[in-house]
Parts: sequence; structure tokens; C-alpha cells
Amino acid sequence: MKVAVVKETAPGERRVALVPEAVTKLRAAGLEILVESGAGDDAWVSDDAFTEAGASIVAREELSQAADAIVMVGRPDEQVMAGLRPGQAVLGMLTPLGDPDFAQRLAGTGVTAISLDLIPRTLPRAQSMDALTSQANIAGYKAAILAADTFGRFFPLLITAAGTARPARVLVLGTGVAGLQAIGTARRLGAVVSAYDVRPETKTEVESLGGTFIELTSVGPASGEGGYARALTEEERQAQQDELAGHIARHDVVITTAQVPGRRPPLLVTGDALKSMAAGSVIVDMGASALGGNVAGSQPGETVVTENGVTVVGAGSLPSSMPAAASAMYARNISSLLLYLVKDGSLTVDLSDDLQRGVVITYEGRVVHPSLGGATQEAEPPGQPESAGGTDVDGASD
Ligand code: NAD
Repeated sequence: MKVAVVKETAPGERRVALVPEAVTKLRAAGLEILVESGAGDDAWVSDDAFTEAGASIVAREELSQAADAIVMVGRPDEQVMAGLRPGQAVLGMLTPLGDPDFAQRLAGTGVTAISLDLIPRTLPRAQSMDALTSQANIAGYKAAILAADTFGRFFPLLITAAGTARPARVLVLGTGVAGLQAIGTARRLGAVVSAYDVRPETKTEVESLGGTFIELTSVGPASGEGGYARALTEEERQAQQDELAGHIARHDVVITTAQVPGRRPPLLVTGDALKSMAAGSVIVDMGASALGGNVAGSQPGETVVTENGVTVVGAGSLPSSMPAAASAMYARNISSLLLYLVKDGSLTVDLSDDLQRGVVITYEGRVVHPSLGGATQEAEPPGQPESAGGTDVDGASD
């Protein structure tokens, strides 16, 4: 079976789906690895390093034709989409939820599309494949580093002949994977850290990292399904913003990481809360998105300074800003998933398996993922899937 790594072409994307260490592991399992020339350049992985690990370097045109499975970090770009053929597998963080048209397009090509951002995270055997967690860890670490770099004062307590600097007071809002990593990193830099989440069960984790958990009196627990938060009601949202504003005003640095699945990120730092912060304060908004973020007015990839001197950093793709570490971790995730799916030299789909049901979006020309309408949505007939070295069936999808 031939597995091909494409060069990412999305703006600002510097990661690569496999690194030489993962190539060696996959080769030992009998897979042939093709790498698009220059695929690892932005992550400081040369074509030579891939070759030494046993991969073949190929041009993009050959790669699409030859591959049984194409692996990537994000979505296939238009050129890759145009070259897809029935029976081929495509693996990446395809983010199909909320974009049924994209899922239908993939189904129309006849590929088996597998999305790493949908790995069922609570399954113990899926932990090594959990790309959301690996990339969120990197993002949380980088958010704290970015905040420290932007802040015009010290994070740690510093006693010198030229004076004493008090430690920075850092507030982390949202204590999932990224938030906890941000807390740990800010603590290691010497800051005094407080944190808040609508899921009170995260309190012990915050405290184990040396942070102080803030409990709001005006908003009750809002734990939702699967370990995620539920969306707040309008009244809860207002009460949360008002009570949080008092805490925000007392901190030098705020790092926001709050997300609710399938919703725009909740607004936690309002315009009024921003005005209450001292000049020189810093906010890093990891929730910044085109739809709006955790902080009023933040934009992904943009830094603004408010009239009262607060620097608001709208985080873009923080994992991409650490491409070597992020690629190495992602490569471990995607190679674990590949090794799980490959049986007797070909990628085998079994939709009776809960892990596979969680990640397989399209199969044999249909959208099969339960969150995208399951097997009910038919696409244009893609032709017959190829079985040799391609996608075999084991367990019915329809
Ligand atoms: P996420 O990125 O969806 O959200 C980040 C945090 O924002 C969450 O902690 C959430 O509670 C919080 N949040 C949402 N709305 C908020 C609001 N209005 N105010 C304050 N905070 C708000 O979360 P995540 O990091 O992906 O983690 C989600 C869950 O998945 C957690 O329970 C985590 O422990 C769990 N998880 C489990 C495993 C595993 O079992 N192997 C692996 C990874 C994550």
C-alpha cells in the first residue's frame, strides 16, 4: 500500500503530516511512503531526511495517481481534490462538521475520507491518534510564551540590585487541554496563575498545576456532553461576562481558550472589561475566529492595541508557528491511525467499529458519518472502488 504525503498549501500552514521517524515506523509495517518534494521544508524536514528514512520523493502530479492513501494536516487543496479517484483514502484534519457541502464533494470523488479532528477522544485506544489534543497542547504552550513575549514586564518574581519585579498575574479562561498547558507554561515562567472554566470538574487539574481556580457565584456548572461545555443561556452569558470583568481588571495577562463544540466561541472579555484593564496588559485570544472570539474585537492573526493600552493578540494557528514539534506529534497521531486501519496491506473500513464510525466521513461515494446525516446522503456515482492496495470493505456501511 502506498501512502503519500502532500505539501500543505493553506496560507500560513507550515506543518507536514509525516516526519522521518513516522516514515520508518510505517515502512516497518510494510507501507511504501511517497513524499511530495519540499513537503517538509517549512518544518525543517528536508527531502533528504525523508529519503534516508526510506521514503521516495515524488512530484505532486505523480503522487496523486500513485497513492492508495493521501495524508495531510488540513483539507486537500483544489489541485489534490481534482486528482482524487474512487477507492483512494484521504486522511487529515478535514473539519467537515458544519460544512455538509464539503463532505458531499468528497463523497462525489469516491474517496474514503477520514478526519482526525473527529477521533472519539474518550476511547483509550484512540489516545495516540488524538490530533486535537496534541495540537491543543502546543497551542496552549505557545499562547503562554506569546503572552510573556508581548508583556512589557517580567513573568517571574525578580529581585535584583536594580529593583524588585513582582510576578505577573495571569488569568486563563477555559481550562481544557490548551488552557491547562497554558497554565503549566505560565507557572513554569514564574507567573501567579488563576483560571476559570464553566466545567467545575477542572478545578483539581488547575490546582495540581499550581493555579488558583476561580468560582463564579452568578453562573452554575455548564458541563455538556462528552466532557465538553454546553452553550450558556443569554442570562448566564451576561452574568458570566459581568462577574468575569471584575477578575479580568485585576490581572496583567489574560489567555482565553474557551470553545463550545459546533458554536462560535463564547465572548468572555467584553469591550467594557477591556477598558477596565491597566495599560500594558496583554490578552492572547486563542478563541479568535472569523466568526468572533473570546475577546471583543479580536481577529485571528492580528494584534491590536486598545485606546487604553491593552494589547490584544488574536491567535492564528499557534501549532503552525511551532511546525517541527507540531508535525512530529501530528505524525505520531496519523501513523497510529493508519496502522490501526491497515490490515493485510490495505486500508480496511469497518463501520461497525466505534472508532472508525467516529472518523470515517465518506465511503464508497456516500457521506457515512452520523453527524453529517449518516449513509442517507447519496452523492454522484463515483465508479467502483478499487480493492487492490486500496480501500477494502469489512462491515457494511449501508
Ligand atoms: P474545548 O477546546 O472544546 O474547550 C476549551 C474549554 O473551554 C473547555 O474546558 C470548556 O469547558 C471551556 N469553556 C467553554 N465555554 C466556556 C465559557 N463560556 N466560559 C468558560 N469556559 C468555557 O475543550 P478541549 O480542550 O478540547 O477538551 C474538551 C474535553 O475533552 C475535556 O473534558 C477534556 O478533558 C476531554 N478530553 C478527553 C480526552 C481523553 O479522554 N483521552 C482527551 C482530550 C480531551
